[in-house]
Amino acid sequence: MVNPWDRAPHLVMWELTRACALHCRHCRARAIRRREPGELDLGEIERVLEDMQTFAPRPTLILTGGDPLEREDLSGIIRAAVGRGFAVAMAPSVTPRLTAEVVAAWAGLGVRAVSLSLDGPNPQVHDRYRGVPGTFAATLAIARAVRASGLHLQINTAVAPLTAPTLPEVGELVPALGARSWEVFFVIPTGRAGRSEMLDAAAQEAWLRWLAEYRRQVAFRVTAVGAPQFRRVTDGRRALDGPGRPAMREAQGMLFINWAGEVHPSGYLPLSVGNVRDTSVVRLYRESPLFVGLRDPARLEGRCGACAFRAVCGGSRARAYAVSRNPWAEDPNCPERPETARTA
Ligand code: SF4
Repeated sequence: MVNPWDRAPHLVMWELTRACALHCRHCRARAIRRREPGELDLGEIERVLEDMQTFAPRPTLILTGGDPLEREDLSGIIRAAVGRGFAVAMAPSVTPRLTAEVVAAWAGLGVRAVSLSLDGPNPQVHDRYRGVPGTFAATLAIARAVRASGLHLQINTAVAPLTAPTLPEVGELVPALGARSWEVFFVIPTGRAGRSEMLDAAAQEAWLRWLAEYRRQVAFRVTAVGAPQFRRVTDGRRALDGPGRPAMREAQGMLFINWAGEVHPSGYLPLSVGNVRDTSVVRLYRESPLFVGLRDPARLEGRCGACAFRAVCGGSRARAYAVSRNPWAEDPNCPERPETARTA
């Protein structure tokens, strides 16, 4: 079967630097305080952008880190991307560098959206999770600045044992802030996040069901990250009938470029297939054996391999790898049993 994501990703997550002033307990990037030698420079970034212009349709670029604001050439990078026809979204860290003036300048440069992390409905949860007091209040202030600038505001929420119980309260805050999308990330134990930061299968399934119900009641976009089984939860057997696209997940509709140019299937699956310094990222996305394999449901093992939903879901390949060091293994955070899938 032809996978509609075979030719081009919808999202390119680009980690411009690992430097960041925050110290989040689940940080995928294992962010560090200072920039490192070896980051892609502006000229190299421009060459990669020119290469990616052959993706059709052109993917949205999410400029992230670490904290992209640690780079003094960030405006030049944004200009280079917008000037080549890419939709650009910013995923900054909430630090004193991120001000209303910076957000307004991004709007002037043609940035479309800003995503902010909000992991709890109060400082007790959010600041504890992010590791820096005052981050909750600063996040609300910047959210207002994003809306005032006319940019699309996205809220990202990490779901871990500490934050999960407050998800309904965060769900009330999201529309109150004027957000137009809410991305709920089920933490994957990679980078600084240990196994204790991950929900178990039953808890994840229960929160996915809560999220599906929440989504039915709101008019903005609600997505689950690190949990492609959200498709099964929201659509049930209907997910198997229509011509709809498979869930976006690692190497399937997305790719990740790290600070040094290494290309990964996602930021949570730290397997490099090559470096943009010497290989076309378009070729890596379309042809590298790992990327091609990750789009092939026949490669899946365990319960995912035997599951009726394998072509539309396929499980989180990053979580499978994080837990078993095997990117083809079953997603351990899914209670679905193949027998159930066949007879439901
Ligand atoms: S068993 Fe795997 S493929 Fe099936 S729904 Fe669960 S995560 Fe998805």
